[in-house]
Amino acid sequence: MTMSKIAVYPGSFDPITMGHVDIIKRIAAVYDQVIVLVAQSSQKNSMFSAEERKELIEKSLPNIKNLKVDIFEGLTVEYMKKAKAQIIVRGLRAVVDFEYEMTMANMNKKLAPEIETLLVFASPEYYYISSRGVKEVALNGGSLKELVPDVVIEALEKKIKR
Ligand code: ADP
Repeated sequence: MTMSKIAVYPGSFDPITMGHVDIIKRIAAVYDQVIVLVAQSSQKNSMFSAEERKELIEKSLPNIKNLKVDIFEGLTVEYMKKAKAQIIVRGLRAVVDFEYEMTMANMNKKLAPEIETLLVFASPEYYYISSRGVKEVALNGGSLKELVPDVVIEALEKKIKR
């Protein structure tokens, strides 16, 4: 029996953007299962709670059958061992992402040599989109069209009005 290939895409997703959506769709097409792992980090203060971020991911990608969204606090490699997943997926935008991603990939390699990191290049139409940029635009009343899924536009508007 061959083991099903599970890819884990960890991140903050505060909130999910079209850049993340693109990576998730592309990975779901080549792996048996994709788990988007929402980091419940105590160090970063996020606009959306982990539960809200999870829900927004699920609502943004309702048609991807082999997608699962989970919340986790701790080391990604520990989650991966429990889930029997082999691949960590991360997205690469500009060169500035490179050093951070390489350092993290090497740290994860040290912690768990059996797990591989797969770096996927952002599609040209989304490479400039970041959650931080999206929040900045939202806070200042700019248009979020084509930057984030519609459910995220609604959630940001609600959050900011309060
Ligand atoms: P983190 O705080 O872990 O960097 P993010 O939610 O910001 O979490 O990003 C998760 C992953 O998605 C990272 O690997 C990041 O480089 C990647 N990513 C973010 N925005 C994009 C985008 N527009 N296109 C492709 N990858 C992206």
